[in-house]
Amino acid sequence: MTDRLPGFNTLAIHAGAAPDAATGARATPIYQTTSFVFDDVDHAASLFGLQAFGNIYSRIGNPTCAVLEERVAALEGGTAALAVASGHAAEFLAFHALMQPGDEFVAATRLYGGSINQFNHSYKNFGWTVRWADSDDPSTFEAAINERTKAIFVESIANPGGVIVDIAALAEIAKRHRIPLIVDNTMASPYLIRPFEHGADIVVHSATKFLGGHGNSIGGLIVDGGSFNWAGDDRYPMLSKPRPEYGGMVLGETFGNFAFAIACRVLGLRDLGPALSPFNAFMLLTGIETLPLRMQRHSDNALAVAEHLQAHDAISWVSYPGLRSDRYHNLASRYCPKGAGAVFTFGLKGGYDAGVRLVSNLKLFSHLANIGDTRSLVIHPASTTHRQLTDEQRTIAGAGPEVVRISVGLEDKEDLIDDLDQALAAA
Ligand code: PLP
Repeated sequence: MTDRLPGFNTLAIHAGAAPDAATGARATPIYQTTSFVFDDVDHAASLFGLQAFGNIYSRIGNPTCAVLEERVAALEGGTAALAVASGHAAEFLAFHALMQPGDEFVAATRLYGGSINQFNHSYKNFGWTVRWADSDDPSTFEAAINERTKAIFVESIANPGGVIVDIAALAEIAKRHRIPLIVDNTMASPYLIRPFEHGADIVVHSATKFLGGHGNSIGGLIVDGGSFNWAGDDRYPMLSKPRPEYGGMVLGETFGNFAFAIACRVLGLRDLGPALSPFNAFMLLTGIETLPLRMQRHSDNALAVAEHLQAHDAISWVSYPGLRSDRYHNLASRYCPKGAGAVFTFGLKGGYDAGVRLVSNLKLFSHLANIGDTRSLVIHPASTTHRQLTDEQRTIAGAGPEVVRISVGLEDKEDLIDDLDQALAAA
């Protein structure tokens, strides 16, 4: 071997995994166990005291999950990662390591609806306040920052698709105010966008979507970019103050450029408990092996479908940054030149009723509330996810009566176009 650094495809298959030392198993074994036997009392004490790394109890770490953590850290170019039970758990534990009661963070309004709920409602119970900003106008983030602000949060490609965020511009603002930029990279995956290369400090994922890629397992990851210096920064006491539960250890000093990942594990995951099952870690790892192939095909298929819909008589608009005419095309060329992902929205001239008929008539597309599956998926937000809102609220959320969202899968694009054509003709 030379000292050549492995490429993305190689990392997607090999990072974090070696043949099993005990059995020679080549696929990562599923360590389906709750706990691990200590060598002796001293070994146990050193694990509990964070003087040594190793396995204690699967709620705070498991060898199958550890392979997933190493693999995603390598793909994102981070220093370390933590695997957790879901994308929402990843967001929650990331904020738990940063925020105290009374603290604030600034988030883009264009986010997955579940994250908007989490930030607006659940986080109130912890005394954490979200301030909303417009990702099309980075100056609105700066305007919302004050002395209690502890982070900026955005999605790289914003759910429900169609929005590319200028990560570098937001990273500049975050650095000016010495706060970390957290990027939810679920929709892009590191194959399309690597947020750390543009100045982000922390990446979170719903691995449920494109990382796993097969619609079979819920999971999440937090990736530490290693770029933020927590030591000595009083604003982040979880990282910069002595921790009573670890004999006064200061995590930011002891663990340096992977202290954030450690804090999420030994304070957040340990005490709050959203562990990933090793079986799900195995499923997610198997999915990641083909991530580069799938993301390219997702993006190529989505562009072909978007171009077809744009020219279709029944369609009033298509919002896909891969299209040359799209308002985000320049940002897409800069941040994700390989493709703009699988998920986008379009508008039906026939409005609400046409949306309902379209999802009923499609045969190959599955009507359900997920994205990032090998299978093509469709949803009409106004009659489902956004049903409880008023017409005006739906329109502000990008879920007007005529809007349909699709997640383009890996089938033959001709079959997808054929299915859409027959469903539109019947709508
Ligand atoms: N972030 C994004 C961009 C998502 O699309 C989702 C789920 O749809 C989540 C986070 C939450 O992830 P999970 O469903 O794995 O909790």
